[in-house]
Amino acid sequence: MDDATTARHDRRAELAAGLAQVRARIADACAAAGRDRTEVSMIAVTKTYPAADVLLLTGLGVTDVGENRDQEAAPKAAEVAAAGATPRWHFIGRLQRNKCRSVVRYADAVHSVDSVRLTRALAAAAERERERPLDVLVQVSLDGDAERGGAVADGDASPEQSLDRVAAEVAGAGPLRLAGLMAVAPLDWEPARAFARLAALAAALRADYPEATAISAGMSGDLEVAIAHGATHVRVGSALLGKRHSLR
Ligand SMILES: *Cc1c(COP(=O)(O)O)cnc(C)c1O
Repeated sequence: MDDATTARHDRRAELAAGLAQVRARIADACAAAGRDRTEVSMIAVTKTYPAADVLLLTGLGVTDVGENRDQEAAPKAAEVAAAGATPRWHFIGRLQRNKCRSVVRYADAVHSVDSVRLTRALAAAAERERERPLDVLVQVSLDGDAERGGAVADGDASPEQSLDRVAAEVAGAGPLRLAGLMAVAPLDWEPARAFARLAALAAALRADYPEATAISAGMSGDLEVAIAHGATHVRVGSALLGKRHSLR
């Protein structure tokens, strides 16, 4: 084997080992919570890693991939598609309105919708660029600090970032499908407190929109806690692919 082939084999073995570990963690967490393993999807967060890693992961059976920046995700998705792989792409990062037209071309779901204005831009883009509706999860700010992203559940939220209004806007937009909620545990909160609050908000949302069943929560460090609190999608980066070198 030449050096490049050897390197690819080594990387494949590394990813296979990470994947086996993460899958075991998810299975154990489901068992501990009395949940069926099929209730939890794993999204491999491939930000900062190349398309070659996405292809190795899809070769190992990964079906869902997450990215947080359009500048990086758009060319990566194109490269993966050109190689014949068709994972579902989840956009999980801060989204600017001027990136919506690009994102809706490759994304199957956007987890980070947190304002009425962004919802309208995304709906307009999806209307122009897509045949099928786009799955949307409304990102919630669990500590109410909207500065760091996320719609806010409490009455004192600005109308623009009120969870109720954003959810209603998504649900009312033909090219979008309200799939559920997403959150990141605030740094200074116990994950259990964060994911319990998210579970309560998700239950309230389902009362109004029974089809909005997705709860996107849990990352490499806290996926067990998220699964204990009902997560349906865990977003796992470093535990699968290794520690990222940049601060993203
Ligand atoms: C990077 C990222 C993840 C994955 O984080 P890890 O700790 O590497 O598993 C999950 N969710 C979002 C929104 C991210 O930006």
